[in-house]
Amino acid sequence: MNSTEPTASSHKSGFVAIVGKPNVGKSTLVNAYVGAKIAIVSNKPQTTRRVIRGILTRPDAQVIFVDTPGIHDLAAHGRSSKAHGGNRAPLLNRVMVDAATRAVNEVDVVVFLVDGSRMPDQEDARIGKLLDARCQMPVLLALNKMDLLKPQHVQPVTEAFWALAKHADWMRVSATRGDNSDQLLDQILARLPEGPELYPADQVTDQNLQAIATELIREQVLARTRQEVPHAVAVAIEQWEDRRADLTHISATIYVERESQKAILIGAGGAMLKEIGQRARAEIESWVGHQVYLELWVKVWDKWRERAESLRELGLSAD
Ligand code: GDP
Ligand code: MG
Repeated sequence: MNSTEPTASSHKSGFVAIVGKPNVGKSTLVNAYVGAKIAIVSNKPQTTRRVIRGILTRPDAQVIFVDTPGIHDLAAHGRSSKAHGGNRAPLLNRVMVDAATRAVNEVDVVVFLVDGSRMPDQEDARIGKLLDARCQMPVLLALNKMDLLKPQHVQPVTEAFWALAKHADWMRVSATRGDNSDQLLDQILARLPEGPELYPADQVTDQNLQAIATELIREQVLARTRQEVPHAVAVAIEQWEDRRADLTHISATIYVERESQKAILIGAGGAMLKEIGQRARAEIESWVGHQVYLELWVKVWDKWRERAESLRELGLSAD
């Protein structure tokens, strides 16, 4: 007799942290499982700044995915100046890495997601060590981006990642194509405890509409900027007014750290800001389900990433 076989009436629920270095596809994977864009995606590192929950509800289970900021090397991202006590990354980066690191012990299962199309680097190795030393929960190693993997690299890449996460079961997936996503989900479900639904069945994320809107605006900025600009951008909703049952009026500020960045975001004759606004408005409309009027401002907030007060005000602090 197999006593682990679930009975027809058993229902599972639990939390699954997706951790890994920036840009490996964590948010893409969560969005794919949830079936909605609950976390923005870009090809820039550190797109995800807060821990975001994405909820998958099916008849037999509710899986709450915890999308985390990429765990990255703070020293490598710090400023080169040693004048103020050495390399210190902005407070925001430390808060992000702390949040992701803490998440691994606040869940039932951890998915260590890596870019399986290339060899691991030091950041992957650090995360592997961290999970080994600090994580009490079952870990699944998922090698993402298998659509980019060249046949001759399959074996060396797999072996190299396996060496970093020795105790984890592993599989290859593609978050964008959906390859093996059912198999990975089965592995996750096998490790979740029995339990009731923890969120209403129609809820796909723990974020409110305003928080989602700020992210959708930031996503459009990330898609159009390079180098230090994506890192220096934060968005705040100033006003959110339902003028009619079918019309919401939103006013939002895009913060940057320098005048030069402000000029980039506004663009020649305001063209850049207009394009960001148009695209973000369309995305926000699909979330709120009706017409949106979106007004955007750009303001300079010197060193907002380095101050606890500004992080708190922008909803980016740990608590
Ligand atoms: P995160 O920083 O780990 O959350 O990564 P994102 O989800 O923001 O994705 C980073 C980039 O990788 C985006 O450009 C994604 O479209 C891309 N990406 C994610 N998964 C895959 C995949 O399976 N295959 C390929 N080719 N690209 C992917
Ligand atoms: Mg992300």
